[in-house]
Amino acid sequence: MIKNIFKKVWVIIVNILIIASVIVFVLIYSDSESKNSAKIQTGHFENTSITMEHVTENYLEGEQRICDVWAHYIAKNEEPMAIEDAITYIQNTHVLAGASAHIIPLDTLVGKSTKNSRDELVITTADYREKDFLLDTSWISETIGQSLNITREYNNPVNKASSIAFCNLVKVKVSGEIKDSVLLRILPSEELHDKWNEGVPHEEFKSAEFAIIDSQGNYVVKNEFGPFITGNFFDFYKIKNAINVSQKQRLIEKTTTEQGYYNMFDSIGEECILAHVPFSDYAAGLTFLCIMPTEYLNTNTQNWLLIGVVSGALLLLFVFDLVIMLRFNKKLHIIAEEADSANRAKTIFLSTMSHDIRTPMNAIIGLTTITEKNLDDKKTVSENLHKISLASNHLLTLINDILDISKVESGKLNLVPQSFSIVEIVENLMNISQQMIKEKNIDFDFRVNRIEKEYLYADQLRLNQIFINLLSNAIKYTEPGGSVHVDMLEEQSQKEGCVRLTYIVADTGIGMSPEFLANLYQPFSRQTDSRVNKIQGTGLGLAITKQMVDLMGGTIECQSEEGKGTTFTVVLDIPVSDHQTADYKLEPMNVLLVDDDEVLLETASDTLKSLGLEVDQAISGKEACDKLRQSNNYQLAIIDLKMPDMDGLEVIRIIRSEIKSNIPVLLTSAYSWSDIEKEAKEIGANGFISKPLFRSTLYEKINEILGKEAKSSENENDDSDLAGMNILIAEDNDINWEIISTLLEMYGITTERAENGRIAIEKMKEAEKGKYALIFMDIQMPEVNGLEATRAIRSLDDPWASSIPIIAMTADAFAENIAECLNAGMNGHIAKPIDIKLVIKEIRKIKEESK
Ligand code: ATP
Ligand code: MG
Repeated sequence: MIKNIFKKVWVIIVNILIIASVIVFVLIYSDSESKNSAKIQTGHFENTSITMEHVTENYLEGEQRICDVWAHYIAKNEEPMAIEDAITYIQNTHVLAGASAHIIPLDTLVGKSTKNSRDELVITTADYREKDFLLDTSWISETIGQSLNITREYNNPVNKASSIAFCNLVKVKVSGEIKDSVLLRILPSEELHDKWNEGVPHEEFKSAEFAIIDSQGNYVVKNEFGPFITGNFFDFYKIKNAINVSQKQRLIEKTTTEQGYYNMFDSIGEECILAHVPFSDYAAGLTFLCIMPTEYLNTNTQNWLLIGVVSGALLLLFVFDLVIMLRFNKKLHIIAEEADSANRAKTIFLSTMSHDIRTPMNAIIGLTTITEKNLDDKKTVSENLHKISLASNHLLTLINDILDISKVESGKLNLVPQSFSIVEIVENLMNISQQMIKEKNIDFDFRVNRIEKEYLYADQLRLNQIFINLLSNAIKYTEPGGSVHVDMLEEQSQKEGCVRLTYIVADTGIGMSPEFLANLYQPFSRQTDSRVNKIQGTGLGLAITKQMVDLMGGTIECQSEEGKGTTFTVVLDIPVSDHQTADYKLEPMNVLLVDDDEVLLETASDTLKSLGLEVDQAISGKEACDKLRQSNNYQLAIIDLKMPDMDGLEVIRIIRSEIKSNIPVLLTSAYSWSDIEKEAKEIGANGFISKPLFRSTLYEKINEILGKEAKSSENENDDSDLAGMNILIAEDNDINWEIISTLLEMYGITTERAENGRIAIEKMKEAEKGKYALIFMDIQMPEVNGLEATRAIRSLDDPWASSIPIIAMTADAFAENIAECLNAGMNGHIAKPIDIKLVIKEIRKIKEESK
């Protein structure tokens, strides 16, 4: 158990570890992917910044060149131009819309300016006195066309627009006086902003901000530059990114001299990336900046969605697997337990079976050894042989029972219905139980309630088994002197074409405990009782009985009380056979029926009346004698043998010697006739009817006693009729051959052996007509087996040979084996080990049929 729990925990841990490693892998992978993409994006951003720097530089250079051209033209004359002429000249060149030119004398800082109109020359005054950048002109290159001379972004004093100006130094005449002046080509800074905005190559860089700074970090131009404060870029940087002075210095140097990028925080604390591209020589000293929030670069964006989906899916898979695994485990557990218990049951079954088989085997082997040593002692030999025979029979029953049980359990037991007489079954039942009844001195009775349909259609063998098992149990588990009463009733059945047969066996035996009753029908279950232990049995009988009853669609009930007795009731709906004997009718006569059992008196009277007789009843021997004394109107007396006041023999004695009546008397009893036959006949009994009193039995016996249709059954015991018969026996086993030939020899039957099927066929081919009365055919034989041999014989040309009766004599005793034999063309089947009585019966049947 603990091991199992440990295993489960282990499996869960392994699962979690696998999930965790997959997630970690996804994280690492996604992180590296995101870094890669950030790198690519950053590179992209840097390249864009460089492009933008080029665009800007081209623009600045172009504008500066125009300014240079103007300055060049103004300076080319020997005489400096008047300021108005110079402005007029500029106005006449193609000044771009939005651009304007100012010429500012450095002494007054109030000069002349163009207006933004090409058609009309308008010269206005431009006042630059407040613009500090004109106070110090050292930054303006004196050599025209050498470098970029650009002002910081400022407010144009003429139109108040934020502007930048490209400058050159020129000399002009103001009111005839030559003055050093500055020529300004002014452009609204918006124009550069627009260039930047339009120049951005990709959509994602639209949010980028651009600026130009000088070597100290002061802004020259910048577009919105959103959250940045104006002034000096590095001052701002220092506040928001916490650097000291030396760090700041290094940063200034790096930014303004090298091309590259770094991350920083803007004024609202947002992380940004900044690319710096110093301008080339022409605009030396200026640096182009491009800044953008890092989030727009898609950098550092782990694919959380992917990670979430993967983790969720793994977790779901894990839970799902866990649930399925637990369920599956549970199922497996149940299956394993079932298999285990089935296995245990099988082991118990096998060991019980082994024990039960070994017990009689032990007796057989032991007794055989003892007998071998005492061959001269006839008495011991005979006693031992008797015991061996008992043990063998027990062993056979046991094997049959086990086969039945396993056949039922594997669903292979098929019922083989056939037409049979219930009278025959009951007679058989009575014969079998007589011995034990006599030994135990049991008060036994068997009553039938006017059975009308004597011929039924069912599996005779199985029905027999049910009846015998219950009756033998009742006798077995009833102490000597107790009583066993059997009732058989025929009623109407709800099922069409059937009769309802009720079979009740009631005993006054040891009974059963309620606990045991709960498991009554389990194989091998026997009550734990010292009295039961002493009685031979395996505990299979009732299990088989119950299964047979179920198979036949009937019911079985048991009522039992310890020490008081048991009653089993079986109810079966059995189809009626088409074959019914003609309605029995006797010539009318008066019958005196004598029995101490009231129920029997009623049922038997009913039966007798149905035969057309008048019946008078007497409940005791004395009453019978009185009635016979008073009237000589009776033509027949049927007297029970065992009655409490005086028994049947005594009554006959009185009838014959005292009453001196010659009335025919039939004795009746559930006990065996043979013990009292001699005495009864001497006293004057005319015949005997074995109970139960079926219509057919009564009809036959009464007819017999009255001298009509006298039919003797003694024939059955006279074996002389079989002498001289010759039988061919196909049998490969020497011992089996010896047994059957010796047994048949005792009946005067001669036999011839065929060691296999091939020899049997040859013998039949060579035989003259009528040489063999029949063939007993083993099935499993070398060369040609019994089935093949039968088919070959059936196809012989000689009509006698091809139609000879063939009876299977085989240890294959299952219904399907029997069916196989019949299909091959055989006429019957006898199971090994052979019961010689059955063999003789079969031979007689064939003899009868061939007459
Ligand atoms: P076998 O297989 O030879 O019949 P068995 O008689 O022991 O052996 P069952 O016929 O199956 O087996 O009966 C099972 C048990 O039920 C018996 O061992 C006995 O304890 C109990 N039993 C059956 N019938 C009776 C009965 N009429 N009276 C008392 N106990 C009975
Ligand atoms: Mg039994």
